[in-house]
Amino acid sequence: MSTNDPFEITRQRFDLPPDVIYLDGNSLGALPKGVAERVGQAITREWGAELIGAWNTSGWVDMPRRVGDRVGRLIGAPAGTVVMGDTLSIKVYQALASALELRPDRRVVLSDSGNFPTDLYMAQGLIASLDRGHELRVLEPEAVEAAIDESVAVLMLTEVDYRTGRLHDMKRLTEKAHAAGALVIWDLAHSAGAIPVDVSGAEADFAVGCSYKYLNGGPGAPAFIYVAPHLGETVRPALSGWFGHDAPFAFEPTYRPADGAERMRVGTPPVLALAALDAALDAWEGVDMAALRRRSMELGELFIARVEAGCPELELASPRDPARRGSQVSFRFADGYAVMQALIAEKVIGDFRAPDIMRFGFTPLYLSEGGVERGAAILVDVMRSRRWDQPRFRQRSRVT
Ligand SMILES: *Cc1c(COP(=O)(O)O)cnc(C)c1O
Repeated sequence: MSTNDPFEITRQRFDLPPDVIYLDGNSLGALPKGVAERVGQAITREWGAELIGAWNTSGWVDMPRRVGDRVGRLIGAPAGTVVMGDTLSIKVYQALASALELRPDRRVVLSDSGNFPTDLYMAQGLIASLDRGHELRVLEPEAVEAAIDESVAVLMLTEVDYRTGRLHDMKRLTEKAHAAGALVIWDLAHSAGAIPVDVSGAEADFAVGCSYKYLNGGPGAPAFIYVAPHLGETVRPALSGWFGHDAPFAFEPTYRPADGAERMRVGTPPVLALAALDAALDAWEGVDMAALRRRSMELGELFIARVEAGCPELELASPRDPARRGSQVSFRFADGYAVMQALIAEKVIGDFRAPDIMRFGFTPLYLSEGGVERGAAILVDVMRSRRWDQPRFRQRSRVT
């Protein structure tokens, strides 16, 4: 590794316990250094000293859009097309409700079984509320492309599969859906900050994602929604809250949407959480996403090589071609839950997704090659010694 390694610099921007090998930044990103101080300032100097005036004097009211622009730069979205707020589940609902309204003659929402359950649950709930005969069609990921036809109102996919890391071809599927007259919603939960994303180049209609995974915004950090510029003035927001109104402080009795993506705001923004995310995004300063992608692939390849050489009983659940994976690697093992608990007890932190997936995330901003080597070596040792095979490692916690 060269001495002017850009990721040596970014590693200094994080506070991680020194003895922990953190392979779960795909689920909850690590804590960047400036966050605690920035949130402390937002509490004492802004909230404490300026009180309600801080909405203007500290720019709280504009944070969803200002921070949205910073996230937008990481996903290829022009300024003013991304806003922050709520949770990803809510943003999925908003995007889907708006998209379905734009295709009133069609009834199919096409998605895949690799989508995260909440995306599918939100679609089910919306379809039930609409009660207009919509159908959520959930196919195997490989079968989606061939199923795009003129019955499809909306293609709603997550680019990177949360279990296996399999990567959809965003540009090709979007083109195909548009050719069939459908709209496309991309969930970038496991893409933003993980791989280069270009929502403009791919011509996505809507994109949504969370900011607590690779963007390191902290637990419960606000979600983002991108609305393509050509839709900004036409989409009707289903959740027509006052902060998405054109003039919230005119207190008019009737809703009128704000311009562009801003209309996807709903209520009062989570200022402290936005302050944390805003500070966390400083860790991306000067980061070249192509270089990040190269490093992430190297780390993933190294991990797979070491684990496969040492643990033949673990079956790779991710695509073998690194170009077809996001920034995570998963292995299947029937006792994967116990193995993961044993690993965590030895301070190698990944996670487990039922029924049998052990998941490891690669975050070049703060994960080094040495960390990956040590993590793999400990996994190999835990497997060979069968240290995982103990009752205490089989006890399931609420969060896995
Ligand atoms: C992590 C994740 C979510 C989580 O949604 P929240 O509302 O933030 O809890 C949703 N969808 C996908 C695809 C995810 O990966």
